[in-house]
Amino acid sequence: MHIIKDMGWIEVVTGSMFSGKSEELIRRVKRARYGKKKTIVFKPEIDDRYCPNSVVSHSGDQVNAININSATEIFNYVTEDIEVVAIDEVQFFGKDVIDVCQKLANQGKRVITAGLDTDFKGVPFGHTHILMSVAEYVDKLQAICVVCGNPASKTQRLIEGRPASALDPIILVGAKESYEARCRRCHVVPM
Ligand code: ADP
Ligand code: ZN
Repeated sequence: MHIIKDMGWIEVVTGSMFSGKSEELIRRVKRARYGKKKTIVFKPEIDDRYCPNSVVSHSGDQVNAININSATEIFNYVTEDIEVVAIDEVQFFGKDVIDVCQKLANQGKRVITAGLDTDFKGVPFGHTHILMSVAEYVDKLQAICVVCGNPASKTQRLIEGRPASALDPIILVGAKESYEARCRRCHVVPM
């Protein structure tokens, strides 16, 4: 990345589950802090994976984060001196996340976002795709397909070990569900 002076911008790190989005967000935040940039990290309240006050990657890296319900709450925390704002699981926020990121970037801040581009059905998730179109930098990462070893761009949802259908309820009570990374060929969404 080149040197940018007196200007903010938006970065999007996207891809399937397990593609390393959180890992990459954490890496960028840590590097910004080595550079003595005042940095703050947010994540949606809904994501309570492992630890409520941190962004934690599947490999165990972590960084402290503030839980928020709505993207506009970010303005309650971001003071003028903050130079870098990171937002994980950006797909869970409403459409106002776009305006929030644009405003922060227009104020001269570096905005690092990470989130799923598609859901388990393979269709755009939340507003990540819009954020990708207004961002200066987009990195689409891939995981490894656990079935065949190809690069994986899809998230497979399993219910009791079997591929979930597009019609299965999003919230399941009592059933065991899980997710895995799969390539285009191995990703299955039965009708
Ligand atoms: P994301 O935020 O995209 O879900 P994370 O950054 O939390 O991903 O986790 C990435 C890490 O997940 C990898 O570094 C690796 O240790 C682990 N991992 C587990 N399953 C896979 C897989 N199928 N492909 C790639 N990495 C995987
Ligand atoms: Zn595969």
